[in-house]
Amino acid sequence: MTPREAEDLATLFKQTWPRGPETAEWESALLPLDHGRAGTAYARMKASPRSGPATLDQFHATYGPAARPATPNHAPCKECENTGWLYIEEPGPNDRVTTAVTACHCGWGDDRRHITDQINAHNTRELDHLFPGRHTPPSRRPQ
Ligand SMILES: [Zn+2]
Repeated sequence: MTPREAEDLATLFKQTWPRGPETAEWESALLPLDHGRAGTAYARMKASPRSGPATLDQFHATYGPAARPATPNHAPCKECENTGWLYIEEPGPNDRVTTAVTACHCGWGDDRRHITDQINAHNTRELDHLFPGRHTPPSRRPQ
């Protein structure tokens, strides 16, 4: 989920169980997870009777097997805010600015890079099909 989604959901957890984990703890636990599934886990936990506040372990158990990411969390990245995506503004024709998205150079970005690779490969195939024999321009994206 996005940092914003994690923040909102973490706030919800903290409001629901004020004596449970701190908002920041919820946030870092939620961030690598799927937003929809985490929301479902929240609803299930809220609906089930309990004697004390919700714990992170209960949450992970409710979320399911994929609760803990297979790879450890990457170091926090200020540039992409751990989303792995960077938005690059590039000057376009007629003084217009176009916004391009690319994978960040951090570990979070490494997790995303296969997506941009797929997109680039797809675009290359498309262009090769449309313009046989074209020259491939050098990449203008910083790596
Ligand atoms: Zn980054």
